Amino acid sequence: MNITELARILRISPQELRDLLPELGFAIGQKAIKVDNNTAKKIIRNWPIFRRQWEQRKAAERARKQDEAILPKERRTIHIPSVITVRALAEVSQIPVNRLLTELIKNGVFASINEKIDFDTAVIIGSDLNLDVQLLAEEDDLGEAEEKKLQDILDLEKPENMQVRPPVIVVMGHVDHGKTKLLDSIRLTDVVAGEAGGITQHIGAYQVKRKDRLLTFIDTPGHEAFTAMRSRGAKVADIAILVVAADDGVKPQTVEAFRIIEAAKLPFIVAINKIDKPDADVMRTKQDLSNNLHITPEDWGGKTICVPISAKDGTGIEELLDMVILTTDAELGDSLRANPEAEAAGTVVESNVDKTAGPVATLLVQNGTLHVGDQLCFEDVIYGKVKSLKNHKGDNIESAEPSVPVKILGLKISPSVGDILYVGEGKKVKMRKIKSTDVKKEKIMSIAQQENGDDNLPKVNVIIKSDFLGSAEAIEESLLKINTEIVKVRIISKGLGNVTEGDIKRAEDSGAQLICFNTKMPPAVENLARNKNIPVKSFSIIYDLIKYVKEEMQKLVPEEVTRVNLGKLKVLAIFRTEKQHQIVGGQVLAGRPENNAMVNVWRGEEFITTGKITGLQSAKQEVKFVEEGEECGLKFEGHPLILEGDIMEFYREDRKIEII
Ligand code: GDP
Repeated sequence: MNITELARILRISPQELRDLLPELGFAIGQKAIKVDNNTAKKIIRNWPIFRRQWEQRKAAERARKQDEAILPKERRTIHIPSVITVRALAEVSQIPVNRLLTELIKNGVFASINEKIDFDTAVIIGSDLNLDVQLLAEEDDLGEAEEKKLQDILDLEKPENMQVRPPVIVVMGHVDHGKTKLLDSIRLTDVVAGEAGGITQHIGAYQVKRKDRLLTFIDTPGHEAFTAMRSRGAKVADIAILVVAADDGVKPQTVEAFRIIEAAKLPFIVAINKIDKPDADVMRTKQDLSNNLHITPEDWGGKTICVPISAKDGTGIEELLDMVILTTDAELGDSLRANPEAEAAGTVVESNVDKTAGPVATLLVQNGTLHVGDQLCFEDVIYGKVKSLKNHKGDNIESAEPSVPVKILGLKISPSVGDILYVGEGKKVKMRKIKSTDVKKEKIMSIAQQENGDDNLPKVNVIIKSDFLGSAEAIEESLLKINTEIVKVRIISKGLGNVTEGDIKRAEDSGAQLICFNTKMPPAVENLARNKNIPVKSFSIIYDLIKYVKEEMQKLVPEEVTRVNLGKLKVLAIFRTEKQHQIVGGQVLAGRPENNAMVNVWRGEEFITTGKITGLQSAKQEVKFVEEGEECGLKFEGHPLILEGDIMEFYREDRKIEII
């Protein structure tokens, strides 16, 4: 067969074919005009496989050429600290960030540019990038200081300097069971706030006084903030109130809240809410608590204090506060201590950037006293000086003692919820660099962490945002179950709450799609996602979510083309010959040729042409297939080269492996 004819069938240029054939093990010269029919037959049969190999080789060649332009020509030595952000590594190595990210992904590490990788990972990827990566003898300012732990700060205090501080309380429970209402209702019990007109500001936490005892409440109902803080290792709450609606009983988020309370080893009280409602049933709720959570109320001989309340009309609120005090004294004794004379340290419970005021954060002071004018640091980096302090009533205050939540103005950098800020000298770091610490570094990415050796498998990368921890975990579990041997889903990150700009950024950096479950996307974030072309899909049913991810996985299944031979037919007559098609008649020699099949036409040993069947008739009826021995008429689309006596070989190409 002519090389040009074969190239046409294979849909590549004759020169490409000449270049390719020797690589595939077919020895033909650069000037060859023909290949023998047997070789042609072999090539056509195996073309789907050959083509894939060829395309992969071409892609590798392209990548190699690009690398030549951006990678160091000679091995270059660089010095880095033991942990480094991808961005900083790009700066030190002078290799584009994207190239570093690609190399990381090749090694199964899905880092974003602001994420940190460890030294060993840098060495491994460096070796393929012509870099000799060495550890800095002494970490200079590229290194990040160890995160300060509050407990370490407190442990350094002398016992004689420690004084009792108010307890910090967190309210948790199922959505709509009345957490917000309860927090509002507790706030109203505060006489001082009442005198000031009762207009309080939501700054993330507030304090009330009950029987001369101060109580600090974290004012962010929902488990997100609490979980976020805990995942960053911060410990803010001393006691929890688990709210359960008396008309609804134990619900999924009640269980989830209880699990979080248990994991944090917090003493807790149950508030049985909405007892003003006609269908409220305190006994049934207690039964529910006992059956589902093994919580036995005190009046049933157990340990847990359950207070029936109505956050709506205020019934039981004062008693609830009394029980909080009782539990504090009984369970925590005088372990709640801090040194008010020390330099302040505390955890950020709320943070945002105000258009006019700049970064604004609420700090729950946990040790020392914070004063106006103090300089606050995070991980040894100066975040700014306290210009003014406001309490939850909006009053300017000069200082804040342990367990007091304060709104801080004057910071230059916006901290994240869960950051531990402390008064100190710190280091001034150029804004550009600080930005990179801005997106929090909850983990250091490392090749060593990557579990299975399936890193070369295609993967659907997803970032999951969901309404609560329970659903995030259920989704993760279901997604891991649909992993197959040929394609995987990789969860880049999972988080709670609405989609943020940070999520979009992370999706962009890691080539992930955002999968939202019962969460919203603010319009500004939606625009950003659109501009950056980041796919964002929202679901309210887990089944639909899983189905979507499965479909996305299916798209990544390598084009495994399997050829299925359907049968052979001998051409007995040519009825019509047009430019692009022929109508022929024939008899099935073997198999079961079907309509819409592909055909190769052979004349003895000679390959004639290839084409498609677009019509099949038997006894003047359109049929889907014909059996061995049957005679039929068929429409062949392709080069009209068929002659009487030719053999038509029918086959089908199955393009994908079904993974589902
Ligand atoms: P959250 O989602 O747990 O913060 O629940 P909310 O505090 O937003 O309350 C959900 C709904 O229940 C709101 O419509 C509240 O007004 C209502 N609610 C909360 N507490 C009570 C209560 O004690 N009695 C009655 N009747 N309704 C309540």
